Amino acid sequence: MDPDVVSEKPGDCPKCGMKLVQMASSHEDHGEHHASMEIEFRNRFFITLPFVILAIILSPNIQKWLHFNLDFFGRELVLFAIGTFIFFIGGIPFFKAARGEISHKNPGMMTLVAFAITVGYTFSVAATFLFPGESLYWEIATLISVFLLGHWLEMRAVRGTTGALSELAKLIPIQAHLLKNGKISDVKTSEVQIGDRLLVKPGEKVPIDGIVIEGESSVNESMVTGESRPVGKRKEDKVIGGTLNQDGSLTIEISKTGSDTAISQIMKLIREAQGSKPNVQHLADQAAGILFYIAVFAGMGSFIFWLFLFPHGAIFAATIAVAVVVVACPHALGLAIPTVTTITSTLGAKNGILIKDMKGLEIARKVNYVVFDKTGTLTKGEFGVSEIIINSKFRIQNLELLRLAAGIESHSQHSIAQGIIKEAEDKKLKIPDVENFKSFPGRGATGAIDNNRVTVGNSRMMRDEGIKEDAIKKLKTTRVGTIVYVAVDKELTGALVLSDLIRDESKEAIEKLHGMGIKVAMLTGDVKDVADDVGRKLNLDTVFSQVLPDDKVNKVRELQRDGNIVAMVGDGVNDAPSLTQAHVGIAIGAGTDVAVESADIVLMKNNPMDVVKAISLSRKTNDKMVQNLVWATGYNVFAIPTAAGILYPSFGVLLRPEWAAILMSASSIIVVFNALLLRRTTL
Ligand code: ADP
Ligand code: MG
Repeated sequence: MDPDVVSEKPGDCPKCGMKLVQMASSHEDHGEHHASMEIEFRNRFFITLPFVILAIILSPNIQKWLHFNLDFFGRELVLFAIGTFIFFIGGIPFFKAARGEISHKNPGMMTLVAFAITVGYTFSVAATFLFPGESLYWEIATLISVFLLGHWLEMRAVRGTTGALSELAKLIPIQAHLLKNGKISDVKTSEVQIGDRLLVKPGEKVPIDGIVIEGESSVNESMVTGESRPVGKRKEDKVIGGTLNQDGSLTIEISKTGSDTAISQIMKLIREAQGSKPNVQHLADQAAGILFYIAVFAGMGSFIFWLFLFPHGAIFAATIAVAVVVVACPHALGLAIPTVTTITSTLGAKNGILIKDMKGLEIARKVNYVVFDKTGTLTKGEFGVSEIIINSKFRIQNLELLRLAAGIESHSQHSIAQGIIKEAEDKKLKIPDVENFKSFPGRGATGAIDNNRVTVGNSRMMRDEGIKEDAIKKLKTTRVGTIVYVAVDKELTGALVLSDLIRDESKEAIEKLHGMGIKVAMLTGDVKDVADDVGRKLNLDTVFSQVLPDDKVNKVRELQRDGNIVAMVGDGVNDAPSLTQAHVGIAIGAGTDVAVESADIVLMKNNPMDVVKAISLSRKTNDKMVQNLVWATGYNVFAIPTAAGILYPSFGVLLRPEWAAILMSASSIIVVFNALLLRRTTL
């Protein structure tokens, strides 16, 4: 049962044949369709139940077994009336669904159920009116009853697996305090607009995504990012709608509304993930298709066998045929995979792991090489200037060099640029204006300040600028750090040495990955000594340094060519090609910009440990899927022959249709509950 059936046109659900519910623009439509079916199954179960009991009491066979006698003239006709009522009132949802399946040329379990009860009913009617024989009314009645109950319970359980989306929607507070002309008024969160200012009081939820313009506080973002430690927020920091403001009061300016907000994006991703099918789904679908024909043939085969080859009478043969068809319903198989993926995607989201494509997550368990981008992933990406070196040929001051570099960098997005700007601001320098700015990814940037051409970047950048190799070599540092050279009018005037810190979590993550039998590589545009230094400290298996952005994808390819299953972990902006090339692309540190195109998995936080968690989620998901598949198919190996009466000649054991129905429903429910167990796991 697909928990999120979406169709462009109105009509019947292709999966179960029920009318599709009109999609509202709200997020609550999710699961509504199956919630309404749940109610339908429940109602029909209770409406038919008294008549089912009556049919049982009036049945001659039951009376014989329980040693009582309640016979009257026309009993068979009363049974016919009751049976007909139950057949139609209880059977309608199954007929509708079967029609849906057949019209989509995809006969499945609902077709089987409809087929089984129709065979039983027709046989009984014939026995009542056409030929002398025992009818199967009470069997059919209980069969339908068990089916209704089973579906009701199962829908309830499936609803339990999809609930997380509405939980997310509930995170957004309905009201917000709008600040306008110095006055505070309470408005609906749905009515605020970009640029509006809101007040968030201590202990309240942040209504919508924004930027802090006043105040300081710590905010609990665990519901969105999975990070349990509160995050400090001050001026210019981003806040996410739905997160919990703790001690301070904040004034925020709204930066995103509607479907652009982080929560909406997350919900969209979860939906997409639940809609994306893992490859095992095809296997399950195929198995279900095969099982359908096995059920039909086994049913017909056993009917013929017990009627002609080993004659036990038409009643016996028909009962067995119905039991076989019922027990072979590939229902559990239909539930085996979707219930697991639904829980996986929400369990992931709770831990700040957004799965964009189930196929990516499916492969993640097989990954044996993880490639990390260095800057901002294994390291903090917060560069500090540790040294300023001046070329002795020039009479330029340290601060002047810093000022010029900061001018150029003020137009760049690179984390090195931010480190340089911060240093200039700490030194209270006025950052100059820049003209003709141009950025060279993986190298540096250039522009004009006071009519002088200023270029900053690595040695490659300097060579491109026409600076001699020995001039570059002369500027040396004793520290381990990234050297950013500064050239003014094509003369190398000096350099800044910047260093970055390794994240505390990186070491733990890499140890864990090694423990899982996974090798780790680092990919960086930075110079060899800095890269090797990080590599040594983190005990990495492979270090690729001085790799140009366009070349990163080739390194991933190289590892793949050696037969590795590669996961690439990067920030998703400049690493897009390598994220796509890798078997599994993991975008890290998405924060509020969760809609990262090229990744299969998006990590909200910037924590390498989440890569470990994602792989472990993949392995756990796979375990569950395999368990469910094995159970859902394996049970037929015993159930079908038993229902066909294989144990009857020697042991007298038969599986009556209603027991077959109970067994079939139970096997579906077991599959759902096995999936639900996944919800309890900690990653
Ligand atoms: P990483 O792989 O660490 O993300 P990049 O490919 O972004 O590195 O950059 C590689 C190198 O190019 C940096 O280590 C730095 O030396 C240089 N570089 C890139 N952009 C800039 C910039 N805006 N300012 C100074 N240096 C830069
Ligand atoms: Mg980078």
